[in-house]
Amino acid sequence: MSNFKVFRKKDTGTIVSDNLKDIFLNWKGSESEHILFVVPHDDDVIIGGGLMIQKALEEGVKVSVLITTDGSMGYCLEEQRDFISDIRREETIKGLNILGVESAKWLNFPDCNTSNFIGRRPAVSGDPCVIDNCTGIENAYTYQIRKLKPTRIFVPAGSDLNMDHKVVYDELLMSIFHATGTIWPNLGEPLNWLPAVYEMAVYCDFEKDPNIKLEGDDKALQKKLDAILAFESQTQIAVLVDSTRNNGSVEYYRDLEFNLYNPGRYSNLF
Ligand SMILES: [Zn+2]
Repeated sequence: MSNFKVFRKKDTGTIVSDNLKDIFLNWKGSESEHILFVVPHDDDVIIGGGLMIQKALEEGVKVSVLITTDGSMGYCLEEQRDFISDIRREETIKGLNILGVESAKWLNFPDCNTSNFIGRRPAVSGDPCVIDNCTGIENAYTYQIRKLKPTRIFVPAGSDLNMDHKVVYDELLMSIFHATGTIWPNLGEPLNWLPAVYEMAVYCDFEKDPNIKLEGDDKALQKKLDAILAFESQTQIAVLVDSTRNNGSVEYYRDLEFNLYNPGRYSNLF
């Protein structure tokens, strides 16, 4: 018996179910599904998807986490300034372990400075995340998506005020196209499917209303809160813990649609 209920809004009404297969399109079966969370910062995944992680693992779905930055600007105490990346790494592993996730990878782009690593360019000495002699977030995402082969990808909403969140959102969507195409063959075999992409809210509201809801019980909420509280160094997180607790055991997501240019859409305008 599942402790979760999932909801998907459709034009014709709302689907309610115990199972992810009923709300996620093109479900390949639990053993073939692989949900990848691509986040700017280590704590985003737990804040935005701490319940979804539990639900996916309960159904036997593989869950992986890709953390884009090194968290080096996230210090709240001056004495932690030089070691904050290491501290946060330990906290992340602890938090993800509470939720049951074993697979997390850091790309180590500089925190608060992702905009200088948009795209792909030949690497010079000292550059982060060098793959195929190149650096850049699209370089890294394309490589990782081809390697990990996710069926679904969750990303914090692009409407967030945080610059790293905006960059990660845009770079991820671009990279999904790279990963499914033939460009940059040295970054791996292209995926022969387009993974479904979902926005999750972390700090700001969605730009458009979410269409998927996950509801858990109090135990699932407490587990998510325990995982958030693993980030002891992030003293500002206390506010978020309170709001997460007050909002209850619920998360919302929005199915992203790729609006590829179709001139026919505008034919009636003139
Ligand atoms: Zn963040």
